Amino acid sequence: MSSRLYKDAFEPMLLVGLFAPGEQCSAAATLGMLYYFILAHQPDFDVVWCRGTVGEMIFKPWVEKIESLGGKILTNKRVTDIVVNNKGVAKGVCCDNEIFAADAVISSVSISGIKKIVTESKVLNQYPEFSNLSNLGAIDVLAARLWFDKKVDIPLPSNACFGFDQTTGWTFFDLNNLHDEYKDLSGSVIEADFYHANQLLTMNDEQIIKKVHQYLTTCVPGFANANIMESRVIKVRQGVTHFAPGSYQYLLRAKSPITNLYLSGDWVITDHGSWSQEKAYVTGLEAANLVVEQLGGNPATIIPVEPDEPHIKLGREINQNLRKIIDNLIPQFWLP
Ligand SMILES: Cc1cc2nc3c(=O)[nH]c(=O)nc-3n(C[C@H](O)[C@H](O)[C@H](O)COP(=O)(O)OP(=O)(O)OC[C@H]3O[C@@H](n4cnc5c(N)ncnc54)[C@H](O)[C@@H]3O)c2cc1C
Repeated sequence: MSSRLYKDAFEPMLLVGLFAPGEQCSAAATLGMLYYFILAHQPDFDVVWCRGTVGEMIFKPWVEKIESLGGKILTNKRVTDIVVNNKGVAKGVCCDNEIFAADAVISSVSISGIKKIVTESKVLNQYPEFSNLSNLGAIDVLAARLWFDKKVDIPLPSNACFGFDQTTGWTFFDLNNLHDEYKDLSGSVIEADFYHANQLLTMNDEQIIKKVHQYLTTCVPGFANANIMESRVIKVRQGVTHFAPGSYQYLLRAKSPITNLYLSGDWVITDHGSWSQEKAYVTGLEAANLVVEQLGGNPATIIPVEPDEPHIKLGREINQNLRKIIDNLIPQFWLP
């Protein structure tokens, strides 16, 4: 791979796909992410956004469905520990001083969330698998939403950008085009998300907004003549999973060392092949199916990712067969 191909194409994909520059990404995660998002979707790869807010379009109907089935959703509760009996079976979930009894528990918190729970826990830190989660990290992200005084002609609704800050990738979205609530406004509404935004998090909102306006103008010169009427900046320190080199050995699967405590999230190992939001969703279904296996009920259907294209399938088979032959001749030659 030439240095230009790496700088102009490969690294930008890593900055928006794994939220980190190449030297900070695990090679296995890099191949997995590139294959799932890009190589397996060469005819239809694109950056797309939900039409409407995720809260309105996905979470609200979901909450209504859960409640209509008798489920109860408790907001503003922070899990602080898991109650485990002397047989190593989870019996409840602690939220500060409250304890909720449980036959099975699914944890769906982020890397930063689970690390905090383990640190505060009286139980989880007794398991090396949970203590080892301290070896995992997360990445700073920043989201800025800008309301302009006039409509700017933006060629595409969703845009991935690079070449601005060496170690930061960003995307911007034309919300007038994507969210019905902004469709008829007289000014453009833009969402700009920055990944591996470490250095931006030290800036104040005014500095950030100025910078985002400059960046937008570089991409679409029409922004130079538009003024920002309103803005909102959200800084999320350690907000997304960091798939760093060597991190795989510390990631956990849906079945945790505690028999009836299951895990889900985009950092949980699955054989499904998906990444990010879809992986979080799929591992959630996998964890739910393990509870169904334990307590009874109907398992959820998990739609597999699209099958490999014929040449990839052939390549995989040749590679696996070659490895088998070589393993028999020169055992343990390759890295695992
Ligand atoms: C700006 C940005 C843009 C992104 N764009 C995309 C994209 O275009 N496509 C894509 O696929 N992915 C994208 N991602 C990544 C995607 O958001 C994550 O992969 C996904 O949210 C992971 O889901 P999760 O459920 O594993 O974790 P999270 O979404 O982080 O959810 C974990 C939840 O646990 C809660 N929590 C933490 N600790 C506790 C506790 N102690 N008690 C109770 N609750 C707790 C948190 O508040 C949070 O709500 C983006 C991420 C960011 C930040």
